[in-house]
Amino acid sequence: MECQIFHCGTRYMNSEIDQRVVNEIFSASQAWENMQVLTDDIGSRLAGSCGEVAARDFIAETLDLYGVDEVNVEPFPHLGWECKGEELRVVDPVHRDILCCCAGLSPAADRLEAELIFLKKCDLEEVEARREELRGKIVVAPYHPVPRQVKMPIAAAAGAVALLEARSVAGGLQPARTCAFNRIGDIPTASISREDSDYLQRLAKRKGSVRLRLSLESVIEWQTSWNVVGLIRGREIEQEYVALGGHYDSWHVGSGAVDNGTGVVAVLEAARGLAQHKEHLRRGVRFIFFGVEELGLVGSWAYVHQHVNELDHAVLMINNDVGGRPIRLISAGFEGVRPLLSGVAQRARVDGIESPLDVEVGNPGWASDHFPFWAHGVPTAAIGCDQVDPNAGRYVHTPADTADKVYVAGLTECAAINAQLVCAFANAPLRPAPRKRREEMELLLDKFAWRQTLDTLSAWPPEALLARYFNGVPGRSVDSA
Ligand SMILES: [Zn+2]
Repeated sequence: MECQIFHCGTRYMNSEIDQRVVNEIFSASQAWENMQVLTDDIGSRLAGSCGEVAARDFIAETLDLYGVDEVNVEPFPHLGWECKGEELRVVDPVHRDILCCCAGLSPAADRLEAELIFLKKCDLEEVEARREELRGKIVVAPYHPVPRQVKMPIAAAAGAVALLEARSVAGGLQPARTCAFNRIGDIPTASISREDSDYLQRLAKRKGSVRLRLSLESVIEWQTSWNVVGLIRGREIEQEYVALGGHYDSWHVGSGAVDNGTGVVAVLEAARGLAQHKEHLRRGVRFIFFGVEELGLVGSWAYVHQHVNELDHAVLMINNDVGGRPIRLISAGFEGVRPLLSGVAQRARVDGIESPLDVEVGNPGWASDHFPFWAHGVPTAAIGCDQVDPNAGRYVHTPADTADKVYVAGLTECAAINAQLVCAFANAPLRPAPRKRREEMELLLDKFAWRQTLDTLSAWPPEALLARYFNGVPGRSVDSA
């Protein structure tokens, strides 16, 4: 779909604009340099850390340098967490230390001793069937298929005293991940490596029972974080905008290169290209760098909360979380955006892929920053990526998520596709897909089978979550230790 726009007496086709932007991005990409600043110079960007503040300032200064019309740093309150210590030891029938990584927002454990029990999933069904055995035990359960934030309350409700999540891939690492979304977890939670989980299973099989001792120390308190927002004003339809975002926080254990340096860098690079041709954008663009995604999508919930009256004017929200080599464009159930996605898929330039990218209107999962927008009926899209280096995806949330895992060409390719999506939606003659009503979102929720998970997380309806997240008094100190 192409439209014609007129500016300063010069006539441009929509696709001419997007080609100029794409050429700018490919010819002068700063993506790899920005990636190294974010991960090698700044490093870990856990909410509440110096790295988070440094990343916030770097992003704001870079947006300014690239010439967007306006840059805002928007504060919001969140429950922050800092790990002060973690110790796990087999105390019976042998003595052996095991490395563990305290889960985000886990309550403290003070030399908590208990027998362990292995679960296959730790879902409602399995826990119900084994409820009697669980009481007073430390549950060990695999990473897949039940999310940690869902396993934790299920195990706690059955009387388990702690949860250890076992990594599913080998490599001796213990990934960081939150056990609860913007609240303190119900029971102490940590991760262990796949190797240590296998070891504990062998030990239990030979010896009958195994007792563990767990100590976790964390400081949990209300803090302030920030979304960084760059704006390009629409030259014709001033109220409407395309939102392009990704989270800039990471875990304390690593520099978060793939998750989500890739997303930050792709959005920055798209902003650089688009800002140079901003006079040709009919609708506005909002480049949103979210804080505190890892502890409960708090930044993106804060954004929709603070801008709820402007959500009607959002024509599309594009989320960038974990980049790589682009292979498809996905929308979470909004058929109306398919024609424009297909147009961009035709024109995308991806190294090693000749044919157009796939376009899919389906289920992209709920666990990233598109979700708060989606929950408010805003059309969303994302670029689906392959990991060229097989190590890249498996090392997210560990110390091994470093810049060497990043597929460098994909940074620029993703940036260009983001920019093309922005051009297509910002310049479409008519709004491609209306905002959906709550009843329509309820139907999609069931179609995607998200309801049970979101109920366990108290994340639906969105008003209930927003009340829990933002009606508390910021600055209150909740120390779990
Ligand atoms: Zn992420």
